[in-house]
Amino acid sequence: MPTLFTKIMRGDIPGDIVYQDRYCVAIKDIAPQAPVHLLIIPRTEISGVSAVEKTGDHQYLLNAARNIAEEMGIEGYRLVINQGEAAGQTVPHLHMHFLAGRDLSWPPG
Ligand code: 5GP
Repeated sequence: MPTLFTKIMRGDIPGDIVYQDRYCVAIKDIAPQAPVHLLIIPRTEISGVSAVEKTGDHQYLLNAARNIAEEMGIEGYRLVINQGEAAGQTVPHLHMHFLAGRDLSWPPG
């Protein structure tokens, strides 16, 4: 059974795809927490950080973030990965939040 994000990446269900490369796809979050809130998702279905292998599409998440920032002309941004329910992960397909467009406080909640 494909994950929600795989269905969006394939175009089976609607999603606002803003970036794609060989390894990763970025979509707009459906419930944005900042003026810019993207989800950068490896094409491979990896359930989360705890399941990553030594090599794979997940290695390119940071490259995708850098490319997106350059393309969008964004200098400051925050990257977040929630691993597991205790951290707030709700979709079991590894994804990195890309947040920008407002001041971001620290520490996060
Ligand atoms: P997590 O909580 O797992 O770290 O992040 C999952 C994110 O996926 C949430 O920020 C949530 O708003 C987003 N999300 C959930 N369902 C959908 C959807 O159908 N489309 C899009 N674009 N984002 C979604």
